[in-house]
Amino acid sequence: MQNDTIYLRKNPLCKRCKRDGLTRAAIKVDHIVPLSIMPISIDQDEDDYVSNGRDESNLESLCEQHYANQNRSRRQPLTALLNDKVGALLKPAGLEASQVPLTIVCGAAGAGKNTYIARHAGPDDTVIDMDIIRTELGIPEDTWSSAALEQCLMRRNEKLAALASSPGPAAWFIVSAPTATERDWWREALRPIALVVVLASARTCIDRINATRKGDHADRSIRAVKKWWLSYDPEHQDQVFDATGT
Ligand SMILES: [Zn+2]
Repeated sequence: MQNDTIYLRKNPLCKRCKRDGLTRAAIKVDHIVPLSIMPISIDQDEDDYVSNGRDESNLESLCEQHYANQNRSRRQPLTALLNDKVGALLKPAGLEASQVPLTIVCGAAGAGKNTYIARHAGPDDTVIDMDIIRTELGIPEDTWSSAALEQCLMRRNEKLAALASSPGPAAWFIVSAPTATERDWWREALRPIALVVVLASARTCIDRINATRKGDHADRSIRAVKKWWLSYDPEHQDQVFDATGT
């Protein structure tokens, strides 16, 4: 593709390697969100984000290895990564409506869900978040396995179940939930007072991840951003918070 060649000439080094302090020649250009599936007007403040391929904010130069990783992960359906037990834990049966005023905060990795909560939550509020749970359980961020994921999801589900009986000023629950079906499922199960989708463009999320995470953890997060944007479908009852400039 002509545009890719031009981009590669201007950006000859692998962006992922560079992030990890390595210098390696890029051989391919990856479209952060494949143009064929990228929704129109991903971000109204960046009209030029969605374009006919000339827009460079959607492009990334990658070395052979990073490009191969990227395409392998794109082909692999999420369900292939999850065993049955984890699958059942993702949407736990038997949850009851929260008795604590609950806000569900959805969004891609790097969108700014934690920042949003930090700005809106009170000091005694409960925050239910897989990253916090992982830290509580002493699982390092670069060693995700299905056993670790299972352990975290079980703890998360205990905390969610406790919302039906525990007192407390307010609670916040972080879940990426890109699809309307998933968000509806959580609304139905937990009866929150609000569900907020924290929205930042894929480019913004990826830049934030590149600035704060390294190696596998960053790669996994970037893949999660792409997956999130590929599956995101807005619905009218979502409250949307634009976090691109924050
Ligand atoms: Zn590389």
